[in-house]
Amino acid sequence: MKFRSWTLTEPYAMDCPACDTLLAIGHRDYFRTLGDGFWLRDGDTIDMVNVLSEEQKKPSGFDCTLMVGKCRECQADYYAVEAAFMDADYTDAEPYLIGDVVPAGASFRMCELRKPEEPVPPAWLLRESAAGAGVLHKHTFGPFLLGDTTGVIGRNGVSSCGGGKAPAWDHAKGMLKAVWDDARRYVTARSRDAEMNRIRENIRSEISKPDSNH
Ligand SMILES: [Zn+2]
Repeated sequence: MKFRSWTLTEPYAMDCPACDTLLAIGHRDYFRTLGDGFWLRDGDTIDMVNVLSEEQKKPSGFDCTLMVGKCRECQADYYAVEAAFMDADYTDAEPYLIGDVVPAGASFRMCELRKPEEPVPPAWLLRESAAGAGVLHKHTFGPFLLGDTTGVIGRNGVSSCGGGKAPAWDHAKGMLKAVWDDARRYVTARSRDAEMNRIRENIRSEISKPDSNH
C-alpha cells in the first residue's frame, strides 16, 4: 500500500489553511468541531466516472464528496475531500454511505503516505465504523485553501454543475485517483478482519454457553 494507517494515539488537529485556527480535532473514538459545530457546511459529489477504470468502479459501494467550509476567524473558504468506501455494491452500501444508518462505534485512524506523491497530502484522517457485515471507511483529506470559489460555490451552494471545472475538483480527482486502489484494498482487508472477529466471538460465546442437558 502507498499509505500506512494506525489508530490515533494522539489528537489530530484540522487547522484553517489560511490562519491556522483550529477547526476540528480527531480523537481515537470521537471527532470534535470547534466554533458553532460545523467545520464543513456544504458539498457536492465528485464525479469519478471518467477518472476511474471500469475495474476501479467495482464494487460500486463508494461515495466521494467535495465539502466546503469557512474559517470563523479569517473568513477564508476552504475545502475537504471526503471519500467513503465499503467492500460492497452501492445498493447494500447506500444506507451507510448517505448516512441513513448512523455508524456504530466509530474509531479514527491516521493515514500517512509512505513517500510523497502529488497531489495527495502527506497525512489524512480515516474514520472506521461497523457497517453491515464489514466496515465503512471515510477518508477526509484537507482542509485545503479555496482561494477562488468560481466553479465550486454557485448561487445554490457547492455544485459541480458545469462539469466541475475548477482547480479544486481537479485536485480532488487527482488525489482520489492516486490512493483509490489502496484505499479499496484496505477497506476490503479491514472488512474481512471485522468479519473474522465476529465469527471468533460467536464461536467463543457458543463454547462458553452452559449446556442445559447436564
Ligand atoms: Zn482562518
